[in-house]
This record gives sequence, structure tokens and C-alpha cells, in this order.
Amino acid sequence: MLTSICATATCQKPFKVIDQEEQFLTQRHLPMPIHCPRCRHQQRMALRSERALYPRVCSRCEKKVLSTLPESSPYSIVCQDCFWKGIA
Ligand SMILES: [Zn+2]
Ligand SMILES: [Zn+2]
Repeated sequence: MLTSICATATCQKPFKVIDQEEQFLTQRHLPMPIHCPRCRHQQRMALRSERALYPRVCSRCEKKVLSTLPESSPYSIVCQDCFWKGIA
């Protein structure tokens, strides 16, 4: 069992790497975790909530735009220009 200190500046809590995990990582020549499980979990959540941008086409002027809505989304996309024109 290894004990490490979390590399997150705001955390720096000691955490343990269990033997099983250590063996798993060593066998696969993977680096040992440098963040505690809590921080690793938070990082995963942060990545997941980071919005992906999909290339779409404006439904009015057919300009290429990036949207947070994927192609499969039922909503049509308008570019910023058309969006503001639509309001004015
Ligand atoms: Zn941590
Ligand atoms: Zn447009």
C-alpha cells in the first residue's frame, strides 16, 4: 500500500493507493495517480460538464457555426448574426 499526497493545490490530502491498483498500474506501466480519488472524481465530472461543440450550419444563412447542440438534436441552429437579426 502506497501513500501519496494529492497534487491538487487546494487539496493536498494524503491518499492511499491500494496494492491491487498499484499492481494494475505497474503491470501496464501506467503512472501512479497523483490526485486523491475525490479530486480525480471531480476532474472527471468537470470534463464531462465541459460542453462539447459540434459543427453545425445556420438554418437561415447556412453559415458554418459551432453549437453546443449535436446534429441529432431536434433544434435548428441559427448563427449569432441571424439570432440578433431575428430579435431586431
Ligand atoms: Zn485531492
Ligand atoms: Zn445565420
